[in-house]
Amino acid sequence: MNNQSLDWSAIAQALVGIETITDPTQVAKLSTDYYHFSPVLQPLLKDKTGDLVVRPSSIAEILKIAQVCVQHKAPLIVRGSGTGNYGQCIPLQGGLILDLTKMTKINWLKPGLTSVEPGIKLAAFDKQAREIGWEWRMVPSTYRTATIGGFIAGGSGGIGSVTYGQLRDRGNIHALKVVTMEDAPRIVELRGDAIKKVNHNYGTNGIIVELEMPLAPAHPWAEVIVTFGDFMTAAKFGQALGDADGLIKKLVSIFADPIPSYFTALRNHLPPGCHCALVMVAEFCLEPFLELVKQFDGEITYQKAAQEATKGTSLLEFTWNHTTLHARSVDTNLTYLQTLFPADKNLTLLEHMFHHFGEEVMMHLEFLQVQGQTVPAALQVVRYSTEARLKEIIKYHEDQGAFIANPHTYILEDGGSKAIDPLQLEFKKLVDPYGLMNPGKMRAWEALKV
Ligand SMILES: Cc1cc2nc3c(=O)[nH]c(=O)nc-3n(C[C@H](O)[C@H](O)[C@H](O)COP(=O)(O)OP(=O)(O)OC[C@H]3O[C@@H](n4cnc5c(N)ncnc54)[C@H](O)[C@@H]3O)c2cc1C
Repeated sequence: MNNQSLDWSAIAQALVGIETITDPTQVAKLSTDYYHFSPVLQPLLKDKTGDLVVRPSSIAEILKIAQVCVQHKAPLIVRGSGTGNYGQCIPLQGGLILDLTKMTKINWLKPGLTSVEPGIKLAAFDKQAREIGWEWRMVPSTYRTATIGGFIAGGSGGIGSVTYGQLRDRGNIHALKVVTMEDAPRIVELRGDAIKKVNHNYGTNGIIVELEMPLAPAHPWAEVIVTFGDFMTAAKFGQALGDADGLIKKLVSIFADPIPSYFTALRNHLPPGCHCALVMVAEFCLEPFLELVKQFDGEITYQKAAQEATKGTSLLEFTWNHTTLHARSVDTNLTYLQTLFPADKNLTLLEHMFHHFGEEVMMHLEFLQVQGQTVPAALQVVRYSTEARLKEIIKYHEDQGAFIANPHTYILEDGGSKAIDPLQLEFKKLVDPYGLMNPGKMRAWEALKV
C-alpha cells in the first residue's frame, strides 16, 4: 500500500539532481526490514511500501528533501541499511524513503571520540578507527551492514555492552545533529542528556545527519567457544565472566541446548546436546580466562586468535539477534523475545524460567552492564504456536519480575519504553509539527490526533 493521494511526479521533479529510485520493485525492497522475525508483525506489514526512494549525499540535499516533503505534506521515512527488527523503517502510510547510505563521511576522528555522518557502516568505520587503536564501544550483530544512524535511532546495544552498557546510558552518545521537518527545515544540535529526545526514536524526531560518538580502545579480541554439560553452569560462568573486573571482554553469550544445533557453520565445535558460551576476550587475558573456564568445568572447543578472528566469519554473527536468524533459517516457526532479568548473582528467576518453559522458550543470554551491575538479558528463541500463547508467555515473565521489550510491535512505546515520553513528544512538536516522520509509529503523537 502506498500513498496515492500525493503528486509523486511533482515531488520527484522538485528533487531533480538528487539520486531517486522510482522502480516499484526497488522501492518495495527498500521499504522493508527484518520485521518477519515476528509472526505477529508479518501479516500487518507485508504489503506496506513507500512511493519513492531518495539517496542524498549531503546535508544540503537532505534540507532540500525535507523542505519538499513539508511543502507536499508527504510522509518521510529515514532508512539506514534496513536491518531493524520491528518494521521500524517500514512506511505505514506510504511516503518518501530517505536512504542515507551515501552519507558515509568521517568528519573527524581522534583518540576516544569521533564525528561521523549517519550512513557509515559500523564495520567500515572500525576499520579506519583501528588504525589509531580505537573502535565503537558497542555494535549490533548486524555490524557488517548496519549504519550508525540506524543503530542510534533503532538499536539499543550489543557486542561491547558487557563493558559499556547500552546506547541509552549517559556518555555513550555525545551529540547529534538533526534536520527538522518545519516549513523552513534547519539543523538542531543536541548535546549530552538532550540526545534522549532522538535516541531510539525510530526516526520520528528529526533526521540525524551528524553524530559525535565516544570510542573504546581496540583490544586484540580472541574468540572462544566453551561448552558445558548443563545450562545453569554455563549461565553462572557467563555471570562470573561478566563480573570478573580483571578480564577484559567484549562479548559473553550463553546458549541452552538445542540452540547450538542451529549454528550449522560451527557444528564441528558444538557436540550434540551441549550448552555453550560464545565469548570475545582480550587476547592478553586468555591465561586467567582459561582458569575461569576450568573453575566451571567448561571445555574449550574453538579458539581463534585476534588476528585470525578479523578474517572470515566472526562468532559475533551467531550472537544477539543473529541467534534468531540462524534458528529461523532451520525452522521458520521459531521467533524470539527480548528480556532483561533483574540483577541477581544466583540467577534464580532465570533458572525458574529455564525449567518452567523448557524447549518452548529456549534460553539465549547476553550479559551486559546495567547501572554498574552485570545482568543477563535474554533473546530467547520461542517455538511459536499462537499470538495468545505468546502474550501469555510475555505476561508470565512480567508477572515474575522480568522486563520484556516486546519485539512483536511496531509502536515505539509498546516495545521497550512502555510509557509516553513527554520530552520526546515536546521535541516532536518542535521538529516535526506536521507529523510527517514515520507516521503511525509514535503512540504519543497519534494520541494527540484523537
Ligand atoms: C539478525 C539481526 C541482528 C540484530 N542484532 C542487533 C543487536 O545486537 N543490537 C541491536 O541494538 N539491534 C540489533 N538488530 C537490529 C538492527 O540491526 C540494528 O539496530 C541496526 O543498528 C539498525 O541499523 P540500520 O542501519 O539497519 O537501521 P534501519 O533498520 O535502516 O533503521 C532503524 C530505525 O532507525 C531510523 N533511522 C535510520 N537512520 C536514521 C537517521 N539517520 N535519522 C533518524 N532515524 C534514522 C529508521 O527510520 C528506523 O526507524 C539486529 C537485527 C537483525 C536482523
